[in-house]
Amino acid sequence: MIWEKELEKIKEGGLYRQLQTVEAMSDQGYAMVNGHKMMMFASNNYLGLANDQRLIEASVQATQRFGTGSTGSRLTTGNTIVHEKLEKRLAEFKQTDSAIVLNTGYMANIAALTTLVGKDDLILSDEMNHASIIDGCRLSRAETIIYRHADLLDLEMKLQINTRYRKRIIVTDGVFSMDGDIAPLPGIVELAKRYDALVMVDDAHATGVLGKDGGGTSEHFGLKGKIDIEMGTLSKAVGAEGGYIAGSRSLVDYVLNRARPFVFSTALSAGVVASALTAVDIIQSEPERRVRLRAMGQRLYNELTSLGYTVSGGETPILAIICGEPEQAMFLSKELHKYGIYAPAIRPPTVPSGTSRIRLTLMATHQEEQMNHVIDVFRTIRTNRYK
Ligand SMILES: *Cc1c(COP(=O)(O)O)cnc(C)c1O
Repeated sequence: MIWEKELEKIKEGGLYRQLQTVEAMSDQGYAMVNGHKMMMFASNNYLGLANDQRLIEASVQATQRFGTGSTGSRLTTGNTIVHEKLEKRLAEFKQTDSAIVLNTGYMANIAALTTLVGKDDLILSDEMNHASIIDGCRLSRAETIIYRHADLLDLEMKLQINTRYRKRIIVTDGVFSMDGDIAPLPGIVELAKRYDALVMVDDAHATGVLGKDGGGTSEHFGLKGKIDIEMGTLSKAVGAEGGYIAGSRSLVDYVLNRARPFVFSTALSAGVVASALTAVDIIQSEPERRVRLRAMGQRLYNELTSLGYTVSGGETPILAIICGEPEQAMFLSKELHKYGIYAPAIRPPTVPSGTSRIRLTLMATHQEEQMNHVIDVFRTIRTNRYK
C-alpha cells in the first residue's frame, strides 16, 4: 500500500511519531506517562487551571444540569445559557463588542479565515504561524503571501507591492508556539493603519499568560480592544477546551451566520464551557500565577543559556532548546526522560528542518524543586557530553 511506503520514509527520516499514554495528571506538575511518574514540562496548561478544583466543580455542576453532550449545533439545540455567558465574559475580557465560541482553536482559525476573507482578498501571514492558520488560509481561497518571521520591513514591502485586492489582512500568532517569542504587534498595527489592512491575532499561547489581567498580546502592548480580529483557544492557559473569535458585533454575527465550523458541528458540552467561564474569572483575579510563570521562565532561560544551550523564548512559558537534527533532539528528549522529565522533541514538519528542538513549557503550579531538578539535569547532560 502506498501509505506503508510513506510510513517507511517517515521512519527513515527519524520523523516517526507515536502516542504517549497519560494515565494520571496531578495539580503539582507531575503526570503518570506510560507507567512512569514524570515531571510534566510539555503541557500547555500554563496556569495549572486544568486541574483546578474550582474548574472541575463548575464542570460537574453544569454537566449535571445539561448532560454530557450538547445534542446539537449552537444554531439548533446546543446553545445553553452557559455558552452565552462565556461569550459575554470573553468579550468583556478582551474589551471587544462581541465574542463567539467554537469547538477548538483550530476550528476558530478556519472559521475566521474562511468567513472573513475570500478569493478577491490577500492574507499576509507570518512564516511561523500555526498550522491552523495555514489551513485556514488555504481553505479561504484568498491569495496568501508569507512574510519573514516577525519582520516588519518585509511585511511593509509586501504591503507596498501587493495592492490590487479588495481587502488585505495581516495574520500573526501573538506568542509563537514553537519559539515562545512575541509578535511585534505595535509595529504590525501601525503598518495596518498606514496601508489600510486588517489585523488578526491568534492568541492561543498568550491568553491568560500575557498582560496584567491575562488579556493576552493586545493587553501586553497596551492595544486591548484595538485589534480587528482576535482569536484564541480555551484549551491552553484557560484549562478547558474550545476556541473563540472576538471582535465587532457585525463580525461575530457574520461568523455565526456563515462559518461552516460553527454551523455544521455540535456545540461544546456545557461542562467544558462552564469550566472555561470559571477560568476567565480566576485568570483576572489571580495575577500572581502570571508573575510566578514569568519569573520561572526568565530563570530557566538564564540558567540554560549560561550552561551553553541555544535557547529561544523566556518571556513566555515556552522555551525552545534548539538541537539541530531530529536525532539530536530525540537523544536529548530520551536523556531527559531517564531523569523523569517529560519534554518531547519537536521535529519537522512542525518546525523548519535543521531546528529540531526540545520544547519546554512551564506551569504556574510547578514546584521549586522541579525547577531545580530540570536545571541540574540539563547541567549533567551537558557535562557528560563534554567529558
Ligand atoms: C494550539 C493552537 C491552536 C489550536 O487550538 P486548539 O484549541 O488546540 O485547537 C491555534 N493556534 C495556535 C497558535 C495554537 O498554538
